[in-house]
Amino acid sequence: MTTTLHATRLALHGGPRAVPEGLVKAWPQTDDDDRRLVLASLEGGQHAFGPNCTAFQDEFAAWTGVKHAVATNSGTAALHMCIAACGCGTADEVIVPAYSWSSSATCVLHHSCIPVFVDIDFATMNLDEAQIEAAITPRTKAIIAVHLHGLPVRMDRVLAVAQKHGLKVIEDACQAHGAEFQGRKAGAWGDCAAFSFNQNKCLCAGEGGMFVTNDEALAATARQLWSFGETRAPGQSRDYHVYALGWMYRMSDLVAAFGRAQLRKLDRNLARQRENAALLSDLLRGAPGLLLPEEPEGCSHNWYNYTMRFDARALGADDPRALRDRLMKAMQAEGVQTGVWQSFILPSMTVFQAKDGFGRGHPWSHPAAGPVDYAPERFPNALRHCATHTGMTTPLRFPNGEAAVRATAQGIRKVLENVDQV
Ligand SMILES: *Cc1c(COP(=O)(O)O)cnc(C)c1O
Repeated sequence: MTTTLHATRLALHGGPRAVPEGLVKAWPQTDDDDRRLVLASLEGGQHAFGPNCTAFQDEFAAWTGVKHAVATNSGTAALHMCIAACGCGTADEVIVPAYSWSSSATCVLHHSCIPVFVDIDFATMNLDEAQIEAAITPRTKAIIAVHLHGLPVRMDRVLAVAQKHGLKVIEDACQAHGAEFQGRKAGAWGDCAAFSFNQNKCLCAGEGGMFVTNDEALAATARQLWSFGETRAPGQSRDYHVYALGWMYRMSDLVAAFGRAQLRKLDRNLARQRENAALLSDLLRGAPGLLLPEEPEGCSHNWYNYTMRFDARALGADDPRALRDRLMKAMQAEGVQTGVWQSFILPSMTVFQAKDGFGRGHPWSHPAAGPVDYAPERFPNALRHCATHTGMTTPLRFPNGEAAVRATAQGIRKVLENVDQV
């Protein structure tokens, strides 16, 4: 196979594509069940937070293995509810990995709290559990564990540090539906957790999210800011009085109907995703200059995003970022649906560098705030990851299977084995 590929010109230079057009099917797939539930909601009378929302909360809580779930209009909203539920207040510090989606850190700001970043473990791409303790100060209230790309954080280590210092643990499970650590699902480990149902997530409802917890008091606090600060118990009638500062984070019934229909297919979809990832790793193992994603002992990845890194030195290049960009362009020309998911580490983003969330430097300028250092060079593993990674979602998603995965692996190998042409 290798010899033939060497004889083949890269698609970048006019050769044939490794992945034929149309082979990789789009995400998500919808069927009669989606149409039936969404149409029933449309023809029903309750379009705001309606019966599908309540049912979706119950079904998702049961599926995840938690007691309480509150359906929201985004994962970001659910994360903000987590910060509030954990009792974080103005100028409190919350520990966040240096590499994630922006919401993992801006949710902290949304509640006037201050994110304190911890570097990632290069191997897992998740926050380095061993570096958490050094970031704790008397102002620290909580730790946000992001199960990045669907790989669960080793929650036993996070919980041990949290317990020792009396901190709350929030899981950003927005990418981690069905991922498991030691047999328990992501979202069921911490004090509370947030999920997202946006377009690209493993459960797509268009937009939307879910706040989950096993703690009734935390659920009640989260609900306070979820719906105008009305702080009414779920069964209570509204009195239209604002008891506390609230937002409007509720889900609509149409979204919940779509989400319920997709939840019924989630186990099937995740099983396919895991099969596809296993096959892809088998086919890519040993490809020159390629670092494959790992699945540490006790962790069951959901393969939301199959992320690879390139070893520039092994490929004879001295600028890792420039090489990554060239390799990715060549792979895209082969039809490999690869891309850079997030190319900035969080502390380097302007909002944190400027230390101004709400004007006048708030919350960093608050008298109760402590000093925090967002110098990017303090996070070398996150920086190295940013310069070397590329990832994929769609080729691994249902209904894609062996044909799409084999063609994708062939496209990746073809480029790496002909790096002189890149
Ligand atoms: C998608 C995502 C979010 C935000 O979810 P939205 O529904 O888009 O608000 C938060 N954290 C992570 C890690 C995500 O991937």
